[in-house]
Amino acid sequence: MNLTFREKIIEKAISMGASKVGFAKLENFLPDNFSHLKTGISIIVRLSDQIMNDVVDKPTHTYFHHYRTVNFLIDQITLAITIMIQNEGYLAMAIPASQTVKTKTDAYTGIFQHKTVATLAGLGWIGKNACLVTEEFGPRIRLGTVLTNMILPYDEPIRNSKCGNCNICVKKCPALALKGNNWYQGMDRDALIDAFACSSYMSEQYKDIGRGSVCGLCISSCPKGTKIIRK
Ligand code: SF4
Ligand code: SF4
Repeated sequence: MNLTFREKIIEKAISMGASKVGFAKLENFLPDNFSHLKTGISIIVRLSDQIMNDVVDKPTHTYFHHYRTVNFLIDQITLAITIMIQNEGYLAMAIPASQTVKTKTDAYTGIFQHKTVATLAGLGWIGKNACLVTEEFGPRIRLGTVLTNMILPYDEPIRNSKCGNCNICVKKCPALALKGNNWYQGMDRDALIDAFACSSYMSEQYKDIGRGSVCGLCISSCPKGTKIIRK
């Protein structure tokens, strides 16, 4: 069977541990320095349900380790895809799985938002917890992204929240950082979350667990994607 290049990318990512892969048309969503990289490949790696189930009132050391390990795996997958594409003669770059780049206007963002690519690739919506929420695994996932100038068949974007009237994560947040609004494409992050309140709470309360950089309560409390848990 002859696979298309899109199918080869999916096959490679899944063989390395990805749970879902999507392709996004990024035109009009890219900053000037990346405007020629019109295709975004979004990679999802599912988190361990057992580890997330143990995040009840605070993060665990195991969760912090898992978070870092999955980020490392995502960086390996997106690097492998970058190499595949570059070998075909196109430009490609992996966005780091977890990296914050302080700018003059935003201290809590990366060089390009994985969530933007994932929603445009139809992999999920942005929940009231400000995380990507998927139908299959809820927000119990981590994300990676490859940007490229290779044109590939695109998936249909998701443009609106499917959280509905649910407010579980909003009530669970100990920092009162979540604002309870339903996301739509183009919505400002500040309308969903007070990123400063979230970050300050983590660094004050969880310094002994993951040096205050993880929490996870708004992820573990979400009922989406937990139906297939087998106990
Ligand atoms: S990570 Fe924790 S503090 Fe931050 S929004 Fe989620 S529940 Fe609140
Ligand atoms: S807990 Fe409810 S409101 Fe929060 S992300 Fe999940 S579905 Fe959306």
